[in-house]
Amino acid sequence: MFENLSERLGGVFDRLTKQGALSEDDVRIALREVRVALLEADVSLPVARSFIKAVEGKATGQAVTKSVTPGQQVVKIVHDELVHFLAGDNETPGDLKVDSPPAPILMVGLQGSGKTTTTAKLAKRLTEKNGKRVLMASLDVNRPAAMEQLQILGAQVGVDTLPIIKGQKPVEIARRAKQQATLGGYDVYMLDTAGRLSIDDELMAEVEAVRDVTSPRETLLVVDGLTGQDAVHTAENFDQRIGISGVVLTRMDGDGRGGAALSMRFVTGQPIKFVGLGEKMDALEEFHPERIAGRILG
Ligand code: GDP
Repeated sequence: MFENLSERLGGVFDRLTKQGALSEDDVRIALREVRVALLEADVSLPVARSFIKAVEGKATGQAVTKSVTPGQQVVKIVHDELVHFLAGDNETPGDLKVDSPPAPILMVGLQGSGKTTTTAKLAKRLTEKNGKRVLMASLDVNRPAAMEQLQILGAQVGVDTLPIIKGQKPVEIARRAKQQATLGGYDVYMLDTAGRLSIDDELMAEVEAVRDVTSPRETLLVVDGLTGQDAVHTAENFDQRIGISGVVLTRMDGDGRGGAALSMRFVTGQPIKFVGLGEKMDALEEFHPERIAGRILG
């Protein structure tokens, strides 16, 4: 992820820093190349435009062009703006609201996005890192295999799953999970909702109903980071309809172009909280905007 973007930007900034004195036009030309590199990384046009505008405003003034190291100053401005685009203010990476037990976490997303895997990864993390007692429940009544998959993963990571009762509706399972979490003294219960291949009314209505009976503390959207701008559209849709509190971008170990990570916050206003970096149960990391910006700029 980000290799091509990183290489492209590296080339632009190498030239800029080697050049010594810089005119405002030199900076503008360089930023035009940055914009093309962003678009090639599948960053959406409005995001790329806003980004360049923000950087240009700061980088073309005399304080920069007449400074002793203008190239480096421009690079620093780009870096800081990247961090700003990747993150909101005052956010702690990986922070989840899981106080007032039992705290419900609703996991939503399209089928195949990595939702069930991420549910188990996150449950493992909450158990091991935060010392929480977690209960997981699958609400995917249309796919018995998905319910069993969560059970298998639960056993693998040592997290309890709600016993499967055939014939129950998602809302009934959600109520049972809530009750079991309360009676069983769990700190957190995680609801792995059903996914569909595309967003449809039925899916959204089902998730809404589950949301309404559980009032989740966190609603996390799991999206495939390889799908670029589609991931951002999916997030917009889920946020409008369900209201999400954060995003988990999966498959960030793949060779995607990184556009989803760069556009997500700007377009949806929602933070990326975690990134999935593989199929293994510990391949989940907090999203650190500083580190990502550092990786992109090399
Ligand atoms: P769901 O349909 O959304 O519940 O998706 P699953 O959790 O079943 O995941 C679908 C496939 O993606 C599985 O083979 C997972 O192992 C794989 N997967 C999930 N997250 C990641 C990730 O971050 N990186 C990689 N490489 N594979 C992942």
